[in-house]
Amino acid sequence: MSNQYTIAIHGGAGNLLEDRFSQEDKEEYYQVLEDALSKGYSCLEEGSSSLEAVCVSIAILEDSPLFNAGRGSVFSSKGTIEMDASIMDGKELRAGAVTCLKNIKNPIYAAKKVLENCDHVLLSGEGALSFCKEKKLNMQPDEYFFTEKRWEQLVEARKEGKVFLDHSDSVGTVGAVALDGEGNLAAGTSTGGLTNRVWGRCSDSSQIGSGNYANNKTCAVSCTGTGDDFIRSVLAYDLSAIVEYKNLSLAESSKLALEKLKQLGGNGGLIALNSKGELSLDYISKGMFRGQKSKKEGCKVGIFSEFLERK
Ligand code: ASP
Repeated sequence: MSNQYTIAIHGGAGNLLEDRFSQEDKEEYYQVLEDALSKGYSCLEEGSSSLEAVCVSIAILEDSPLFNAGRGSVFSSKGTIEMDASIMDGKELRAGAVTCLKNIKNPIYAAKKVLENCDHVLLSGEGALSFCKEKKLNMQPDEYFFTEKRWEQLVEARKEGKVFLDHSDSVGTVGAVALDGEGNLAAGTSTGGLTNRVWGRCSDSSQIGSGNYANNKTCAVSCTGTGDDFIRSVLAYDLSAIVEYKNLSLAESSKLALEKLKQLGGNGGLIALNSKGELSLDYISKGMFRGQKSKKEGCKVGIFSEFLERK
């Protein structure tokens, strides 16, 4: 057992406009990020696995209407809430994912159930929902997921005939990476997708290798941004491959992977962690909701260039 427990989270990246955030708005986000970090970190301290810690942190972000996952999910072109999530265990490379899932309160736990109790990696739509019902996961009616702010964003997107990631504040896909006392890494990602996307669209967040990946030998990574570009660049696995095949640090490898994304016209960021407890929280967009907690470096949160020490 080691006490190198480390956890990092993100709450989405995009071209956020800093002047649209008052100090109070920022504080509201910081508090949820801090809460998610400290609950995930406590789990690790108590001896839980990195897989469990990742779920605990992500579930807090999914329960907050501030983020585009679970409760605060954005609407598809049809006005539906369809959620995606994935999770991966770096020790044995087991993985689970769900896409176009409705009415499940915490899609990250649906992904974990797939990882633990299913012969397949990715379940979609009605089949995914039926699997979740069988496993007795917490369900909520449509009203639980309805937020006025997200609906207004859909109305605006429909008017403009656009699909939004970078709508001033509609980003907010969430993710976590963790290192537990056994030295095992895990990564999880959860999203409500893009506002006004074609319904039935599957995001990178549901795809192992694109929006999520973990391997104890390389790193755990969770991504956020223009998902279709992350799928085309298989970004999460690409970062793992860069770490594996090139003699570069995690930070240098993340820069390289994001540079390749940029060349494809993509935008966003990632959080990555290796089994030495080294972290890289990097983005090529204007901002990324993010935070990290470890014994060595304490707890820090930020949205733009600031990265503030918290208790
Ligand atoms: N990657 C997500 C998607 O394309 C969006 C995000 O990261 O905010 O659905």
